[in-house]
This record gives sequence, C-alpha cells and structure tokens, in this order.
Amino acid sequence: MNPIVIIGGGASALMLASLLPSNRATLIETNTKIGAKMQVSGGGKCNITNRVMDPAYYLGEEYFIQPALDLFDEKMLLAWLAQRGLEPVIRKGSQYFCPHSSKEILGIFQRECSRQKILLGEKVVDVTRKGKGFEVKTDKRTLSAERVVVASGGLSYPQLNASDIGYRIAESFGHTVVKTAPALVGLTLQPEQFFFKELSGASTEVRITVGERVVEGALLFAHKGVSGPAVLNASLYWEKGKIEIDFLPDVDWDAFVRSEKQISSLLPMPKRVTKAFLIQLDLQDKQGKKVTSPELERLKSLCRYSFAPAGTFGYSKAEVTKGGVSTDEVNAYTMMSEKEEGLYFIGEVLDVTGRLGGYNFQWAFSSAYVCYQHLINQ
Ligand SMILES: Cc1cc2nc3c(=O)[nH]c(=O)nc-3n(C[C@H](O)[C@H](O)[C@H](O)COP(=O)(O)OP(=O)(O)OC[C@H]3O[C@@H](n4cnc5c(N)ncnc54)[C@H](O)[C@@H]3O)c2cc1C
Repeated sequence: MNPIVIIGGGASALMLASLLPSNRATLIETNTKIGAKMQVSGGGKCNITNRVMDPAYYLGEEYFIQPALDLFDEKMLLAWLAQRGLEPVIRKGSQYFCPHSSKEILGIFQRECSRQKILLGEKVVDVTRKGKGFEVKTDKRTLSAERVVVASGGLSYPQLNASDIGYRIAESFGHTVVKTAPALVGLTLQPEQFFFKELSGASTEVRITVGERVVEGALLFAHKGVSGPAVLNASLYWEKGKIEIDFLPDVDWDAFVRSEKQISSLLPMPKRVTKAFLIQLDLQDKQGKKVTSPELERLKSLCRYSFAPAGTFGYSKAEVTKGGVSTDEVNAYTMMSEKEEGLYFIGEVLDVTGRLGGYNFQWAFSSAYVCYQHLINQ
C-alpha cells in the first residue's frame, strides 16, 4: 500500500512531494513532465510570490487562507528556495520572479521530488474508499493508498491537460464544489464596445470598479476584447453585469481647462485611443481651454465608462479557475477533508484564487506546507 498518493504534478503537488520524507509519496501526473504550467508561467520566468502578502489579495475565505499564509509565508518560501540555491528577483514593484527562467525553480522541484515515486503520462480517473485506505484508479493501473492528496488544480489551460478530476473526486465524497469560472482572464465586449477592437495593441492605465472591489493597472485593448493586468484582476470579481472603467484616473481637470494643448495631447492615453473616444463622444480634438462645460462633462464620462462584458476569453486563456472545492468542508489547519478521513485538497482545486502577482503559486505552496505538517505527524 502506498502511504500517500498525490494527484497532480503541478506547483502544490511538487512542493508537498519535496517536503515529505523519502519514499513516502507516489505522485501521478497526466503530462509527461512535471510542472508544465509553472514552466510557462510569468512569461517563462514564473512569478513565484509577492513581497506584499495578505488574504485581501485572494478571493476566498480569510479564515481559511490566513493560517496557511501564517505557517508558510513568502519569506519562508524564499528562504526554502535560497537554501536550494535560488534567489528570486523583484520585478514590477513587489513580484518575485526566477532571475532567468522558470526552469530554475523547476530544477529544484525535480531534484527534491526524485526521492518520491513519480508516475508521468498517467491519468487518475477515480478514487474510492477501500477499507481504511483508498483505491486510486488511473488509465493504466489501480493503486492502493493510505492517504490521498488531491492537487489536480483547476480547469484553466486544458491545452496543458487541466481536468475536473479534483472536483469529481470531491463530489463523490460528498463535498460541495463552488461554481467554477475562468479568472485572471480577458473580458469580451458588447456591440457598443466593438470599436475597442480597432485599438488592438494599445494599452492605458485605468481604475476598474467591480461591485465593491477596485483594481488598478494597465488595460490592454485586444482583438477579442479587453485584457491586461487591471482587467485580469477585475475578472476575479466579475460574474455578470456591469463593470465601471475610469479611463482617466488622476487627471488634473483644473490644469486641463487652462491648457493650450490639444485634448489628444493632454489626456494620458495613447493618442489613437483618445481619438477613438472623441469620435464616440462626438467631440472635436481641440485645446483644453476651448472645451466648453457640457463638452467637459462628456469627456469626464470616460471616468465612469460603464458596460457589461459579454463574457470572458474562456478557460483556454484564463490563468486560473475561481470557485472549486468549498473551504467550509476542509480543515484550514490540515487541508484534510472534513467529510472523509485521509483525503486532502491543496492548491487551486480549492475555492481560493489569488490576484496576479505570484499569489496563486504562494497559495499552492502554503496549502501544500499545511498538508505536509499534518501528514508527517500522522
Ligand atoms: C499561463 C499561466 C501563467 C501563470 N502564471 C502565474 C504566475 O506567474 N504566478 C502565479 O502565482 N500563478 C500563475 N499562474 C497560476 C498558477 O499556475 C496556478 O494557480 C498553480 O499552478 C496552481 O497549482 P496547483 O498545483 O493547484 O495546480 P496545477 O499547477 O495546475 O497542477 C495540477 C496538475 O494536475 C494535473 N492533473 C489534472 N488532472 C489530472 C488527472 N486526472 N490525473 C493526473 N494529473 C492530473 C495537471 O496536468 C497539472 O499538472 C499561471 C497560470 C497559467 C495558466
């Protein structure tokens, strides 16, 4: 009987398998290599974690997220990596990346996990209770296990073999799975916004309000709709209905109406974006000081540009899946199911989703660490 079977060979599974004593775990991964998603992440440099770590950067229950971040935070992660020769570098303000390539962190996991049994190119199809343990069925064999850790991630990037197996296993043991949806993903447009498509490739700084959440950053006009960090973060909170975009955050309107410069030079957007909006607003490009009060009000409507996205770019473009195994039925201090002794859930399969910036890998690693702490004390 295998002491521990880990389903998946992504970030959370690799951290758990690395931490466990030798020959304790059997890791099963559909892909023919481990950490496929990690390899392509962060533009090939893997945004591992963030200097600013807080449950506020996650969609999920704070009472569930906080203990894991307390037990294994970004500093512990960085120390663990440093002991193994990797010193991530900060980019984009507070985000830690591999200095050269994701292969650096993957190399560490490859070495650390070599102490465990790894089955690659093998797909788990079912898990059932068998006596005091479990039976794990793959497309090649049936394994028996004392404990099973579901680390199979979400539905994003089906091109890298993402699957719903984690949710199916959870449901088969009576767990609730919170409705899933693509997140950290671009949003598609309504016909009134189709003129955005003409602006494809342009990017501008915005502030987006979704319900009670406000996110800031770049918005990228894309062929399919809008994307870029601000939109990706907004997608975490958007379900349906309207979002409000402030295309002109921090414009000094007093200085604007005194200026001799043209509107298209005054507004902090690429000129072709400003010009497209001026057409939509039926305004001429003219000196700021010549803009009339009613015209100024029309222009200021760009501070609260509201529309209901038609949808998202879908799972094939989404960095993560929001929703997942309900954290109400999993112990925050062990990651063990409260419905089935010996069954654990870690990483993205749980209903915890972070913003852009390394929060999702940190969650994968922190939840794996919590699980490890419990497993070694069994
Ligand atoms: C393009 C892209 C870029 C990203 N960049 C970043 C970033 O820079 N920073 C960040 O924090 N997050 C990033 N993310 C998100 C991050 O990759 C995930 O949140 C994280 O990998 C989740 O870890 P996990 O172990 O829970 O799941 P995963 O890493 O998805 O691992 C799950 C594994 O389970 C395997 N699996 C699925 N079904 C089965 C089955 N039936 N049998 C066996 N194996 C199975 C999958 O093949 C997969 O390898 C990115 C995601 C994508 C798609």
